[in-house]
Amino acid sequence: MYDPKSLKAEEFICDKEVQDTISYAEENKENIALIDEIIEKAKKRKGLTHREASVLLACEIPEKIEQIYDLAEQIKKDFYGNRIVMFAPLYLSNYCVNKCVYCPYHMQNKTIPRKKLTQEEVKQEVIALQDMGHKRLAIEAGEDPVNNPIEYILDCIHTIYSIKHKNGAIRRVNVNIAATTVENYRKLSEAGIGTYILFQETYHKETYEKLHPAGPKHNYAYHTEAMDRAMEGGIDDVGLGVLFGLDLYKYEFAALLMHAEHLEAVHGVGPHTISVPRVKKADDIDPSKFDNGISDDIFCKIAACIRVAVPYTGMIISTRESADLRENIIRLGVSQISGGSRTSVGGYQEEERPHDTEQFDVSDQRTLDEVVNWLMTAGYIPSFCTACYREGRTGDRFMSLCKSGQILNCCHPNALMTLKEYLMDYASEDTRRKGEILIEKEMEKITNPKVKEIASQRLQLIEQGIRDFRF
Ligand code: SAM
Repeated sequence: MYDPKSLKAEEFICDKEVQDTISYAEENKENIALIDEIIEKAKKRKGLTHREASVLLACEIPEKIEQIYDLAEQIKKDFYGNRIVMFAPLYLSNYCVNKCVYCPYHMQNKTIPRKKLTQEEVKQEVIALQDMGHKRLAIEAGEDPVNNPIEYILDCIHTIYSIKHKNGAIRRVNVNIAATTVENYRKLSEAGIGTYILFQETYHKETYEKLHPAGPKHNYAYHTEAMDRAMEGGIDDVGLGVLFGLDLYKYEFAALLMHAEHLEAVHGVGPHTISVPRVKKADDIDPSKFDNGISDDIFCKIAACIRVAVPYTGMIISTRESADLRENIIRLGVSQISGGSRTSVGGYQEEERPHDTEQFDVSDQRTLDEVVNWLMTAGYIPSFCTACYREGRTGDRFMSLCKSGQILNCCHPNALMTLKEYLMDYASEDTRRKGEILIEKEMEKITNPKVKEIASQRLQLIEQGIRDFRF
């Protein structure tokens, strides 16, 4: 039986409720009165239920889709302004005991070189990332209790936070490792991680079990209930995601929102972020072997529907997607993107992009400076801000900041100050020139005169070499 408050995967992601939702959405996809009602509700910016959002996703009426896109764009502007938070993945180890059918790190892949960074190599990777200008990382590792135990992950986090190279620093480490125990989540929380990210891959249990034929990840319930354990272990910010292409997107979409509703119902706070990766080509992985691949149009529609359904949840799009697609989708509600990414273990220290241990082919291969330059040309503020989590504004405290509309007096100046740091320390001449003009223009949007004055003084101090200011 469907119960969002249950702690059992099969009850909060109840298959029957997902199927009923898909049927309900299908029956109502041309019901203009209902669609209008849902769009009106979404305009209140308090979110939608999985059933309501599924009706919007099923709707094929061009004029209504246009309205959904416009609303998604407006909600993004209201809650996130034109800021886009930047991050990079850091691959620690590709040793893995699972057999995920879509991932080249699966244990039957005997040709991919296996590599695990030593702490000295982690240091070199972090220095290379700091020299690019990154302040926020997402660490990634395969699941292997012998090669990548929790102690190894904790050592890496400690190493990453300890490195201060020139003006560089990694100020937030998000963690994308396999589902684990409450005890291990507590250790991650105590190590000061930002978001714990775990992609569900697919919410469809049967498909899930087929795609994860062996290894600890085979256990659907253990994987699906991981965020509850993470929150029990003291992690406030969790990031959900689906790997689109594995099962029917309408199924994944409804279940993803049910998962978000479950977290809200049980823990009083929804997911901090939602990621929307699609299966990509990789070493021995051919994406055309998966029957449920989605077109760019559907992909954009999913992003817009997520945006209107969960307005306070950040949305992440990685370099799995091309520059063109990223340009289209960002306006529909994306709040975080990666830039200058390398998905191979040890890839940042190499002059040339190495491919031998890559987890997937990177579509957007531009440097971080090129991505920053492009975002500014497109009217966005690339932000390297990590203030909320460092000020303890996580979980529901972050959500209340978002809901109270204080973003313009807090996140906006923080974005401008961290962009200024980037311009001073890492930008090319052209990027710096564009950035200075942008900062001057964007400072005018700060509504509180006191905040504006302090921000302006801090921008000058950054020019004089002082770093790491935040509201
Ligand atoms: N091993 C951990 C786990 O099982 O959750 C960490 C995750 S892995 C390093 C990061 C994510 O990459 C996976 O959760 C999966 O969704 C995604 N991924 C794996 N293979 C992929 C592929 N061929 N194309 C795109 N994304 C892929």
